[in-house]
Amino acid sequence: MAAAGLLGFLWLLTGPGAEGQATRAEVRGSRVEGKDASAPDPRPSAPSFPSAPDTRPSVVAAATATRTGFIAEGSAFQTPYWVVDSGTQGPKVLVTGGIHGNEPAGTEAADEIRYWPLAKGRLILIPRCNVPGLEAGTREAPGEPKELTDLNRNFPLSGKEDTARGPMAKALWAFVREHRPDYVLDLQEGSDFRSAGSESVGSSIIRVPHPETAALQDLMLAAVNATVADAEKRFACLRGGADGSLARACGERLGARAFMVETTYKDQPLALRVRQHRIVVHALLKHLGMVAGDASGMVPQARPTPATVYAAIYDGLGTSSTKTPPRFERILTPAADVLLRRVAPEDIRDGALAQFDMVIFAGGSGSGQANGLQEGGREAVRKFILGGGGYVGICAGAYLAASNYAWSLAVVNADSIDRQHWRRGNGQVEIELTPRGREFFNRPAAARLEIRFAQGPILAPGRKEDLPPYTVLAWYRTGIGQNGADPKTMIDTPAIVTGECGKGRVIVFSPHPEQTDGLHDLLLRAVRWTARREATPQATATGPQEFGGTDPANDGAVEPRPGRRYAERQPAPQTHLRRPRHPPNFTPAAWAIPRWNRSGPSLSVR
Ligand SMILES: [Zn+2]
Repeated sequence: MAAAGLLGFLWLLTGPGAEGQATRAEVRGSRVEGKDASAPDPRPSAPSFPSAPDTRPSVVAAATATRTGFIAEGSAFQTPYWVVDSGTQGPKVLVTGGIHGNEPAGTEAADEIRYWPLAKGRLILIPRCNVPGLEAGTREAPGEPKELTDLNRNFPLSGKEDTARGPMAKALWAFVREHRPDYVLDLQEGSDFRSAGSESVGSSIIRVPHPETAALQDLMLAAVNATVADAEKRFACLRGGADGSLARACGERLGARAFMVETTYKDQPLALRVRQHRIVVHALLKHLGMVAGDASGMVPQARPTPATVYAAIYDGLGTSSTKTPPRFERILTPAADVLLRRVAPEDIRDGALAQFDMVIFAGGSGSGQANGLQEGGREAVRKFILGGGGYVGICAGAYLAASNYAWSLAVVNADSIDRQHWRRGNGQVEIELTPRGREFFNRPAAARLEIRFAQGPILAPGRKEDLPPYTVLAWYRTGIGQNGADPKTMIDTPAIVTGECGKGRVIVFSPHPEQTDGLHDLLLRAVRWTARREATPQATATGPQEFGGTDPANDGAVEPRPGRRYAERQPAPQTHLRRPRHPPNFTPAAWAIPRWNRSGPSLSVR
């Protein structure tokens, strides 16, 4: 898919816009008093800001080169940095993240920003300033002496000696001094919304005093606040910065225009906070003429290998942001051929899926996810799949994919039945892979599997004329029935089905392979297959036909039967036997998944 390349092209074509010209009223609305080192901004009025330099294609250099290495190499604090050099003279901008280990949004954002195509200048990124803290998920670095616990107080203090304290701050400070950035954005997070009256600096931009920082702060605030509808969640305008912080030291010691950008982790999905950081950084870089386009860039422009899967996972309303995406990250991130990114519904509505090969909608609430997406997001997902994108839906994501709710996506020709008993309970159930399912999941022997069930949909053939029938990869062989549900209802109904939707591939799991030890390979297989990144030509050329079609080998297919009574149980596969009809070029080898060469490019994709 050429989406990433196309995106880069669009970036270059789109000139700078006028959103930097914020009015005072827009950015002043959220100012509040506070007690910490960051004071509300007392400026009476903003100076008018000069318009951004020209970044039309003729002035965009193509010679971007990225250098990478480690700060504090070999120590417990070792952390990677990237220097993205446009090859053209211009500003040096430092973007840092993860200075407090319990504030992951800045780390994620910096990781995404490093793939933005640069028109001029140099972008220096340290996404994980505090590696031990990030690994422990704690604000401070575990094991550090008491006086050094807060890394963001260990940089040179105001008016004192120009030295940092502790090995981590010393190493970072030496690196930053050497690179002498003109601009510094330290991406952090706060615990609560400043504009709602909290003393936390959550959802604010803090400027370190400098003749130029007030106007820059205004344009960054205007950009991010244009995306925040709730007045109490708007980014507040603060100045100062704690003594000993990296940003303040950069402002005072190096003369940099320095800012701390603070999102709020309270009740907000990570993907939204990452998006807000991207928007703020983009506003500055765009003003400086270093980037064009919008702030949506989330994946590398060049695919590390042709087989690399760019996978998105929905992170928003209807999903537990703290539980669900991390579970998939633990499973998929170790697979070297999968790059997984969280996408917010706002990202999806903005068309961010165009950068990805497939999207995962996981557990939670199907209607909640549909609400989060809103109509525009649901349409964007459908369009993505029709155009060749992949979809893996699990439990709530299977409800969302179904074809018989007013809010569902109708990307698989399956109805959710016995809807009044959806609260049928949780527990282990048995499923049986069909012959196609055994082939598909490369499990020739293990026909019956125990799997976690958590009120997933009971599926039956749908009645959509614009969708082909689905193919069954596994049937439920045992059932669960609480809260008035009959456990027998789910027995012999499909547990895993796959289907085509336009050019896209869809797999839905009613149960949870990702919550079942020993079945994570089912998820990986589904991700890779829907992404169409497999190198084997047969495997990428066709849809379900590759493994026998919608009426495939013998038991997999279920013909749609318009008007059939849904109370009727799905017949067991034994009653369904048909003659195998493989396409002529079908071989089990066509299913082989190429291993990504781990010694390949040094570009790190997590
Ligand atoms: Zn912080």
